[in-house]
Amino acid sequence: MQSFPISLLNGYRNFMSGRYVDERERYRSLAEEGQKPATLVIACSDSRSAPETIFDAGPGELFVIRNVANMVPPYEPDGHFHATSAALEFAVQSLKVSDIVVMGHGRCGGIRAALDPNAEPLSPGDFIGRWMGLVKPAAEQIQSNDVMTPAERQTALERISIRNSLDNLRSFPDIKSLEEEGKLNLHGAWFDISTGELWVMDAKTRDFIRPEIQE
Ligand SMILES: [Zn+2]
Repeated sequence: MQSFPISLLNGYRNFMSGRYVDERERYRSLAEEGQKPATLVIACSDSRSAPETIFDAGPGELFVIRNVANMVPPYEPDGHFHATSAALEFAVQSLKVSDIVVMGHGRCGGIRAALDPNAEPLSPGDFIGRWMGLVKPAAEQIQSNDVMTPAERQTALERISIRNSLDNLRSFPDIKSLEEEGKLNLHGAWFDISTGELWVMDAKTRDFIRPEIQE
């Protein structure tokens, strides 16, 4: 039998002697009372964009969906297997989160591959090409913009894709009506993995700006 990755066992040992000791009571009460996170974060699977780390969140605080390029598909009740939509439905209908954050990030491999028409597919398998088709129409428009540098095109598409996901969130009837009733707030965010900067989307202009952060 293959041995379990030693780096994970070492990390677990540190967790049990460190963070778990500090948060033991919290884990216990969460186990007894169940989770009640107020926020759903939809983030990329990229190992550098973990929402719990970036938002310094403890157990029970964030409900997280991670997938390639932090995308939300449109509402498609077609009987297929929709992991992202299922988790979304659970967060909204059962947990009744008050806020949903779609968080993209800089240097996203999925977005880079979507922008480069000559690139090898991100992987040769059956799923990722179709998944990245969600952002293809925007990618095709940006590819033809030769005034922008490749890095500018990539950042632009990362942010446009966040706006697309927010639009797709509103194609879910429950989300649309909860938002209209003022019970659910949708947000966009973009994390620059090279500088640690967090940019958030202004709800009116849909531009990404640096938020005021109180010391
Ligand atoms: Zn990514």
